[in-house]
Amino acid sequence: MPESILIVEDEPALRDTLSYNLKRDGFIVEAVGDGRAALESARRLQPDLIVLDLMLPEMDGFEVCRILRKEMITPILMLTARDDEIDRVVGLEVGADDYLTKPFSMRELRARVKAQLRRSRLLREELDKSSVDGSQKPQEKLSFKNLVVNLTRREVTLDGEPLALKPQEYELLVFFAQHKGQMLSREFILERVWGWDFIGDSRTVDVHVRWLRQKIETDASEPKRIVTVRGGGYRFEG
Ligand code: CA
Repeated sequence: MPESILIVEDEPALRDTLSYNLKRDGFIVEAVGDGRAALESARRLQPDLIVLDLMLPEMDGFEVCRILRKEMITPILMLTARDDEIDRVVGLEVGADDYLTKPFSMRELRARVKAQLRRSRLLREELDKSSVDGSQKPQEKLSFKNLVVNLTRREVTLDGEPLALKPQEYELLVFFAQHKGQMLSREFILERVWGWDFIGDSRTVDVHVRWLRQKIETDASEPKRIVTVRGGGYRFEG
């Protein structure tokens, strides 16, 4: 069964190009040109991925993303025209899974689409596995003083209180936790957590580290858990 992708883009030429390229890759594609149509199509189609332009008529991409986030776990790849929107797009406010800044190449788009689909397939398999025998097997946990990552339940607690983490924040934390004490470059993190198999935009990593620090550090301005390594990347100290 081929995977389905919903494209939401109001520029007809770009919409057609996106549609053409993704269809050629074997996906079932539906393309719409405004925010309201996007909601309607997403609910009906339940696509495997949504490519969502930010500036749209009727209802903008921020609003569409916020609404859909509450209804489905479908990965959302956001298209933005401006660099300064990136924090909002991948941050808590909107919570897109990934983004591309216009202009971008079709090669780049296809790589991101495939990485997101691969990620959500793995996530689904993991969820299926844990719902089948989750109650039977011992829970796998990684503990760092008052911070506990429960891999079985995909739950993180700080001082015993559950933390609300976005899926990518959770995966980033798990990755750090599994590589405690190691210097991890932004490129390496990007490749392993986001699945990008090329030198991508390492600001994605910085943005997520910033969000994560605000949730797990005592003082996010003086991080003790996720430390910045000069000229390198990050190191998780536990
Ligand atoms: Ca637009």
